[in-house]
Amino acid sequence: MKDAVLIFGLLIGIFSNVWAEELHNPPALEVFEGHIHHQANIQLIQTQNSFLIQIDFPTSDLQVPNDENFTLIRTPEKIFQTENIKASCELTRTQFEKKTLEPEHSDYLMTFEYACKEPATIESIDFNPLFNLPTTLETAKASVIIGDQVLPSVEIKKGTAILKFKKSK
Ligand SMILES: [Zn+2]
Repeated sequence: MKDAVLIFGLLIGIFSNVWAEELHNPPALEVFEGHIHHQANIQLIQTQNSFLIQIDFPTSDLQVPNDENFTLIRTPEKIFQTENIKASCELTRTQFEKKTLEPEHSDYLMTFEYACKEPATIESIDFNPLFNLPTTLETAKASVIIGDQVLPSVEIKKGTAILKFKKSK
C-alpha cells in the first residue's frame, strides 16, 4: 500500500511539472509535421565524383524574409566554410525552394551540388556560418552519406558546428 501511494505521488509530480511548463514556458522545440522549429536539417551526400549539400529549415526561423536575406541563405560561403571543398570540387548547381508543409508551416530548402575530382579529401565541413545568419536557428541535425555508407546523424550547434567524417578509402 505504501508503494502504491508513492507511485501515485510521483505521477502527480510529473504531471504537474508538465502542466506548469506548458502554462508558463512554451516548449523550446515545437514539432510540427515535417519540421522542428529552430532546427535545421543538413544532408551531405558524397559519391565518387560529386558532393551534395542540402540544408532546410523552417521559414519562420528566418528573421526577415527579404531579398537580402534570401541572397544570404542561397550563398554557400554564408552557410558553411567552403575552402576545403573548393580545393577539389567545383560548384555546378544551386537550388532554392520554399516547400509548404501545412498552411502555417513551410521550409526553405537549399541545394548545393559540386563536381569533385577527389571528394574523399573533404574530411570536415564547418557549419558555424549557418548560425551567424539572421535566423532563430539553435541546432542542426546532420546526416552524412558516403557512397553506400549512411553515418549516424549528429546534432550540431553554434560553436560546435564542425562536421568531421572518417572515411574508409
Ligand atoms: Zn513550422
